[in-house]
Amino acid sequence: MGNVKRSPWLLHYDGSSCNGCDIEVLACLTPVYDAERFGIINTGDPMQADIFLITGGINKANQEVVRQLYNQMPRPKVVVAVGVCACTGGVFKECYNIIGGADTTIPVDIYVPGCAARPQAIIDGIVKAIALWQEKANNPEYVHAMYESQEEKEEKAEKEENK
Ligand code: SF4
Repeated sequence: MGNVKRSPWLLHYDGSSCNGCDIEVLACLTPVYDAERFGIINTGDPMQADIFLITGGINKANQEVVRQLYNQMPRPKVVVAVGVCACTGGVFKECYNIIGGADTTIPVDIYVPGCAARPQAIIDGIVKAIALWQEKANNPEYVHAMYESQEEKEEKAEKEENK
């Protein structure tokens, strides 16, 4: 899927947020901020999503869900952590059940700090995500990795181990 020229779809998942950041994400989709003018569409289906936008921290109950959502997304994909909770665990960091930010579980590409993150900052993160997604789609090495056979992957892992 090299040189992708299409509108990326976005999946929003609320980890364990207080809903403050989620309200701001929703505001981004209203006509006031209108994030869709940048060509993105909000979807509820991870298998159709290119950008994973996560709010709230990772806890023991949602960790596997987040991992599964990420794994179901096709490559190339970009992850955006919105709000300090998704970036680091935020104000809930010391809670008994909080593991930390989204990057404790999946690779995060873009961090949007704030409590709550402002719509302008979220849109900035989305615009950066679109550019990065396009860059990944245009990168031959990254594209090749998408089509590596199981044998090639195993061979590569074995080589890494023997280094
Ligand atoms: S960053 Fe602030 S507003 Fe956003 S989920 Fe955490 S506590 Fe709520």
